[in-house]
Amino acid sequence: MMTIPRFWREIRQRYKGVGVECGNCERVYFPPREVCPHCRRESIGKMKERELSGKGRLVTFTEIHEPMPDFKMMVPYIMAIVEMDEDVRMTGQLVDIDYDEVEQGMEVDVTIRRLGEESPSGIIYYGYKFVPVR
Ligand SMILES: [Zn+2]
Repeated sequence: MMTIPRFWREIRQRYKGVGVECGNCERVYFPPREVCPHCRRESIGKMKERELSGKGRLVTFTEIHEPMPDFKMMVPYIMAIVEMDEDVRMTGQLVDIDYDEVEQGMEVDVTIRRLGEESPSGIIYYGYKFVPVR
């Protein structure tokens, strides 16, 4: 049986984001791709999983006033595009900060948060979100 701490470790790893690295040119892609668009044929069979650091900088952000249909999110919320340390871009919700305080280029970290709950079965969904590095 899986112990709780191990379960959490695995969830955390998963939601830091797992991309792929091309074994030929070492470029990293997220979400993962089958083939490196730079190396094409040369990269076939050389793409390997690469866990992201979860750290990056805010490229752009916008405030959303409509809730997503699948998740009963509090509105408004902030969606951000983040350039990760691995030179890949991730899109996600930015939390734990007021819109007025958000600045382009600020450092953010990936964290795992509850996204929603499916009733009545009680299945809880988790996913990554961005938090400011303070
Ligand atoms: Zn490549």
